[in-house]
Amino acid sequence: MLKCISDPSPKTDWFDEWTIKNLIVLHGTAGLTYTGIDATLDIEDRINVHYVITRDGLIRQRFPESGWAYHTGYKESSQRSIGIELESWVIAQKLDGKFYNAGYNFKKEIPADEILELQPFRGIKYYHALTKKQKDVLYLLILELQSRHPIPADWHREINSLPTAQKKGIITHAVIKSTRYDYPPDYPLL
Ligand SMILES: [Zn+2]
Repeated sequence: MLKCISDPSPKTDWFDEWTIKNLIVLHGTAGLTYTGIDATLDIEDRINVHYVITRDGLIRQRFPESGWAYHTGYKESSQRSIGIELESWVIAQKLDGKFYNAGYNFKKEIPADEILELQPFRGIKYYHALTKKQKDVLYLLILELQSRHPIPADWHREINSLPTAQKKGIITHAVIKSTRYDYPPDYPLL
């Protein structure tokens, strides 16, 4: 078992109902504070994910894997998935040669060596990279989740290739929901 910090969500944020999990959905917090997590998601009530991986590679567990919460924007995929938030700004913008977080009113500078320039995705080409520790821990957490749940080792990075209901394995939020940027098809998650 990976070392994991228990950081319980309020009981009002998730459903204590057992469901089969055959999908992992990867998110970005779009903030460097832990409270940024819920701000990125767009349903008012019962928003949450099972795990958060911080930039220094700590895993925080918010509720049991048996339960579920709205985190994809759709009930079908939320009920059968394990949600993982990766702490990062997700999208960035360049102003006068410097990089800042995008999508919120406040502007926080992001060091240039943490910026990825990718194929433009939904109009955005600069993204905040994950840390090596995050990627290492994500890889191990995915393996561990696959040992406990019927989650195949299939990555679905491509948009609109299959209806979401037929996708099992590992997927990013942006593949499920067309208004999201976490994460583009060429974003290096591992
Ligand atoms: Zn998301």
